[in-house]
Amino acid sequence: MTENPLDTNSTPPVLTDSFGRFHDYLRISLTERCNLRCVYCMPPEGVELKPRSAMLTFEEIERLARFFVSRGVRKIRLTGGEPLVRKDAVSLVESLGAIPGVETLAITTNGLLLKDRLPRLREAGLTHINISLDTLREDRFRTITRRGGLRVVLDAIDASLNLGYEGTKVNCVTLRGQNDDEILDFARMSIDRPLSIRFIEYMPFAGNGWDESVMIPYQEMLDTVMAEWPGMVPVPAPPTAVSTDYRIPGAAGTVGFISSMTDKFCSGCNRIRLNADGSLRTCLFGKDGVSLRDAIRDGATDEDLDALIGPAVRSKKAAHDGMTAIALQPNRPMILIGG
Ligand code: SAM
Ligand code: SF4
Repeated sequence: MTENPLDTNSTPPVLTDSFGRFHDYLRISLTERCNLRCVYCMPPEGVELKPRSAMLTFEEIERLARFFVSRGVRKIRLTGGEPLVRKDAVSLVESLGAIPGVETLAITTNGLLLKDRLPRLREAGLTHINISLDTLREDRFRTITRRGGLRVVLDAIDASLNLGYEGTKVNCVTLRGQNDDEILDFARMSIDRPLSIRFIEYMPFAGNGWDESVMIPYQEMLDTVMAEWPGMVPVPAPPTAVSTDYRIPGAAGTVGFISSMTDKFCSGCNRIRLNADGSLRTCLFGKDGVSLRDAIRDGATDEDLDALIGPAVRSKKAAHDGMTAIALQPNRPMILIGG
């Protein structure tokens, strides 16, 4: 569990929940829009987009980010939707990178718009990159994303490594019958290059047609990889890690498993989310929280924000309810949350 470095008499422990978890990791969704339509994320009929005026402006995002950093956040990740479809996202990275106290500034992207922006992102202070990729086959890429662009994404992965982003993460959602026969091909990508390949269990969200039989438990994926490389060894990780990582003997990179469904890791959770419309989320599978957009548009001070955010954080549950229950609970589609 993360300790609050600001836990002094003068700083309100607003980001500590009732189980003692301190939230020093803020995930900010920049947009509800995307240039892909991944089957596990976007409902087939699409999503109803809110007007642009409902989205946080860059100034509002920066204001809120500064607030959260003043309360102890040290890591910020930009996500979406596809964060890079938001016009001039790089300038936002510049402003966030300039906030004193931000130690890690990361992005999760589908990689389609990444390559050309990489040098500026690097200069702006972006420290970590996660790129989502679920298949290495063009025909399947079209089926899973309902669009094309595999080559562009592969080039973006290469470009990230070339620019010195060692440990670039590749997020692969595994779907039984759709890409499970590529698990070893993905794992192999970690041998020659310092990539962190991460297999993610398929999670239920509104409109994604989740079915337990399609979700591949991490133990099954681990067994598959272990059978090929029996000498694979675990890599030590902090308690807040979402991925259990291994290294194939002699490999430059790692292979990890994100077991949100079959082996939840809520006890070490240090993440809090800001949706693109400014609502706060303390859990991916929780309810929408208070609107920080409305609060700051009404002139909220930092102390007013403390009064709104503190109770929301303290009401966070110890753990999510488990995949069967989650699948039945109302939630937003993933694209409207920001993964
Ligand atoms: N567009 C960006 C991307 O795809 O990387 C950022 C947003 S996306 C919602 C963030 C992450 O959530 C991606 O790695 C994606 O694979 C993952 N994701 C989306 N829906 C998911 C689901 N149903 N189960 C597991 N992971 C999911
Ligand atoms: Fe877009 Fe990312 Fe969702 Fe795919 S996973 S539809 S790329 S937001």
